Amino acid sequence: MILNNVKVAGTDEQVNIRVDKNMIAQISPLSLTDGSLQLTFVNAVIFPGLINSHDHLDFNLFSPLGNKTYSNYTEWGKHLHETYKEEIAAILKIPFLMRVQWGIFKNLICGVTTVVNHGERLGLGNNLITVFEQCQSLHSVHFEKQWRFKLNNPFKLNLPATIHIGEGSDELASGEIDELTRWNLFNKKLIGIHAVAMSQYQAKKFKAIIWCPESNYFLLNKIAPVNILEKNAAVLFGTDSTLTGNWDIWQHLKFARATKMLDDRPLYHTLNQNPAAIWQLNCGEIARGKDADLVVANTKPGKTSYDSFFSIGPADLLLVVHKGNIRLFDETLLTQLKAIDLNKYSKICINGSYKYIQGDLPGLIEKIKGYNPEVNFPVSTA
Ligand SMILES: [Zn+2]
Repeated sequence: MILNNVKVAGTDEQVNIRVDKNMIAQISPLSLTDGSLQLTFVNAVIFPGLINSHDHLDFNLFSPLGNKTYSNYTEWGKHLHETYKEEIAAILKIPFLMRVQWGIFKNLICGVTTVVNHGERLGLGNNLITVFEQCQSLHSVHFEKQWRFKLNNPFKLNLPATIHIGEGSDELASGEIDELTRWNLFNKKLIGIHAVAMSQYQAKKFKAIIWCPESNYFLLNKIAPVNILEKNAAVLFGTDSTLTGNWDIWQHLKFARATKMLDDRPLYHTLNQNPAAIWQLNCGEIARGKDADLVVANTKPGKTSYDSFFSIGPADLLLVVHKGNIRLFDETLLTQLKAIDLNKYSKICINGSYKYIQGDLPGLIEKIKGYNPEVNFPVSTA
């Protein structure tokens, strides 16, 4: 497959890219031929498939729950279970794997090709996107039973531990960070999710922190100070689930950019090269020999390259490729994709724009609505 006439995000380079099986094989300003499928774009940007470093795939049918500013996650958790019993039960009665499948589609529709799932290991095997689980998920210091023992489990020392940490603006949230690092007896690689209460000094004990600014703002009216934490730990980006934010990662990114905590370039790297390095993935970069996890999107002419990247939304996506496979494409590409087997795809509409997505999303939505007709989806089925 050759992708012609695309501008690499963050640069002014107009290139053609050849994908061979699951890899990026060639990038050149000159025209390329290999006799296979050619797709030619106009005013389009290409970027590595996004890496969403924090989500709970099974929690994305919830609406945001919470109605005040909380001091920390334990206060929110308690309030949630006291106040929203019925809302929670109405979602949890939908079978777990159906909820997870929607979580995968939610990410794919936005151009996420790798998602780090927090929670029990799903072990789903091949999927539409990479569901990364090669880490030890610990919920948090206050909600994970026997976390000290699990953290120091001699059989799991080689796995990085991802844990919600410092999710609050009070003593409990800042104190638990020191408690965690004090108990990291074997200096295991720690990846802290949220880190709202974290200081620059505390960040030294973490390999990376995962910034979920929209979720933090929703719960705590406060976000992690990534402008100072980035000096001592890599910053990765996460959406968390729709329990605490929008389904659309592009909305999270627009919010993050507006905070001006990170410049455009480091913010962009929280979605690709930083997480690829931390999770040890062969993606996150448009370079020869990297996995062909690629997204092409429409851009408006005249914008600077980062302006055009951060103004993207799901409706603008033209093509999502995961490991060399076309997972989603805009209907305007149909004339160039005459040979594609449309039986593998279903047609959906998102903000007035029609896309073909691999798999039976309409069937899944119908099954979920069979359990709970009240659930709202951001896409309609055509
Ligand atoms: Zn979370």
